[in-house]
Amino acid sequence: MIRRLGILGGGQLGKMLCEASKKMDSDITISVYDASDQACARSVCDSFTCGAFDDVEKVRRFAQDCDIITYEFENISPMVVRSLDNAVQGSEALRILQNRSFEKEFIDSLKLVTCVPHKNVSAGFSFDYPFIVKTDTLGYDGKGQYVIQGKEDLHHVKRGMIAEQYLTDMKEYSMIIARNVNGQITHYPPFENVHVNQILDTTTFARIDRQYERQMFETSALIAEKLDYYGVLAVEFFLSGETLYVNEAAPRVHNSGHITLDAANISQFTLHLYSLLGKDFPSITVDREWCSINVLGQHYENVLHSKISGKFYDYGKKSTKKDRKVGHINGALSDMNRLKEARIR
Ligand code: ADP
Ligand code: MG
Repeated sequence: MIRRLGILGGGQLGKMLCEASKKMDSDITISVYDASDQACARSVCDSFTCGAFDDVEKVRRFAQDCDIITYEFENISPMVVRSLDNAVQGSEALRILQNRSFEKEFIDSLKLVTCVPHKNVSAGFSFDYPFIVKTDTLGYDGKGQYVIQGKEDLHHVKRGMIAEQYLTDMKEYSMIIARNVNGQITHYPPFENVHVNQILDTTTFARIDRQYERQMFETSALIAEKLDYYGVLAVEFFLSGETLYVNEAAPRVHNSGHITLDAANISQFTLHLYSLLGKDFPSITVDREWCSINVLGQHYENVLHSKISGKFYDYGKKSTKKDRKVGHINGALSDMNRLKEARIR
């Protein structure tokens, strides 16, 4: 019987996992571990531990008090996670997917949908313009990335980065799947995502050919299986012309899945918990007439003070910095432009 769930990471994803857990079974107690005492999940969990993620002893003691452990972000040491015998997601997905070089090598080796042509930046390195460089680890929301249009941008290129072809005309999709501890796999239909300044801006249900949906699902399922992964897994794809590429994968709930809080019979957060608890998945149904819009620090005041027709999920962050995700709005697809405008005035 699972009575105490421990979450490593207390950001908005951790917070929404807590809320899903409370809704599903109010007898489950939730403990959250985060390096910041201001973590937003703190307000909804039953107990909170503030500690560094590299304080192995502290993480272990935290985990020993829990029946199962999950993590909601990727920058934790896979060795620490491996040393916990109740971390159901396992550590292999974390080890591979938190490092762009390992991630791309692994995904290309599956020989299904491959990554955008890429190289490691090393001595004698060259690439056709335009290309994009990304740090190997710790990147998120476009941090540590630079588009290199020509010679004048080359000062951003540093050894150890990954360089990849910059796709000037492409669309972005994500496939969110879940695999439970019994090996059952399910998935949402793919989402279409629009990024602004490399940060996710809007999510809608994708209208694309079934053959791409099938390719996305098969690739995502294989990633989960090969990495012995249990839980929700999100895989980001680019479609350039008729060529589908994998961008990256995340062994956790994902920003593009926030739409499922309203547009699906089961949210990605509940689905993640079902996976860890070994519950059978219901068959997933969705209402495609929803959209989801991110709210960043610079949008916060406007959204708070305008009458919006959608549902505003306020993460309750203590500070609302520019370009930091502070909430999202789920609303009717037909209202999408109005909802976007509400953010800026
Ligand atoms: P992060 O870990 O920051 O999410 P991503 O690799 O997903 O890093 O890049 C963030 C965004 O930058 C992508 O969603 C996309 O909009 C843009 N981007 C990344 N790589 C490319 C590329 N090769 N070509 C065009 N746009 C890209
Ligand atoms: Mg990304």
